[in-house]
Amino acid sequence: VIIEDANSLAGLYAAALESVGMRTLIITHAMDALSQMDGFHPDLILMDIYMPQVNGVELARVIRQHKAYFGVPIVFLSAERDLSKQLTALGSAGDDFLSKPIDEHRLIHAVTIRASRYRALRSQMVKDSLTGLLNHSTLLGRLEHELQRAGRKKTSLCFAMIDIDHFKSVNDTWGHSVGDHVILNLSRLLRERLRRTDLVGRYGGEEFAVIMPDTQLEDAASVLNTLRQTFACVEQHAQDQIFRVTFSVGLAGFGGELAGPSLIEQADKALYEAKKAGRNCLKIAPD
Ligand code: GH3
Ligand code: MG
Ligand code: MG
Repeated sequence: VIIEDANSLAGLYAAALESVGMRTLIITHAMDALSQMDGFHPDLILMDIYMPQVNGVELARVIRQHKAYFGVPIVFLSAERDLSKQLTALGSAGDDFLSKPIDEHRLIHAVTIRASRYRALRSQMVKDSLTGLLNHSTLLGRLEHELQRAGRKKTSLCFAMIDIDHFKSVNDTWGHSVGDHVILNLSRLLRERLRRTDLVGRYGGEEFAVIMPDTQLEDAASVLNTLRQTFACVEQHAQDQIFRVTFSVGLAGFGGELAGPSLIEQADKALYEAKKAGRNCLKIAPD
């Protein structure tokens, strides 16, 4: 993301970075930065310091307060040569400082190094090591973000908790590593069959969670029920034997207001109902 009020300059940076295969988003009105960045998932933010509407250092502070941008490197760009001011800028929120004018090659080099370091770090921080799905804390952060977005855009959102049935007996019967394979099979199925916009996480041991933005409750229920039936038919292999495993789902929908018990609590309660009802089924949280 390039936040720079001078259009022509922003265009030059973008052209340089795109010439080596990066995707860029130019934001010239700093006041709109957060709403424009929404959904772009930057690996780095280039930030002009002196802009007419807002100071880049201040804006960096605001951006940093959003979980979605936690840890994203912010590189300030300015003609400011006064070292003490540069240090203030860095100490407050940003990660680095490049002085203007900067030539194309130095810009590409600086951005490439920092963005790839951040990518490597982020993938370790946000993913579950067994399944490669989002981990617990990342999923919670994304849920908060998606809820805010749904509230703003007045769209609906669904949240599902999925828990493998009698998983303890899978481990007890076939061993822990066969259990791990069952977890992997389910995570693969979830990733393959859900939409790219759905967010899938490993919530805990044999529990998964799915965030489905822009989705009506009935549609989510139908998709998840199909997945449930598919998974129940999947042959799980242990040594030379075949067995099958099922899961239960608790589903909750968000229709515009953030009141009452959280979506997670609602989905968790619905999941409990699904278990009580005999497992291998889906229950929807009451309104
Ligand atoms: P229910 O149908 O009520 O969900 O019963 P359950 O046996 O699935 O639930 P319970 O919570 O009693 O047991 C979950 C088990 O999952 C216990 C734990 O040892 C196992 N488990 C958790 N994480 C992992 C993992 O990463 N790998 C394997 N193989 N097992 C795990
Ligand atoms: Mg469980
Ligand atoms: Mg279970």
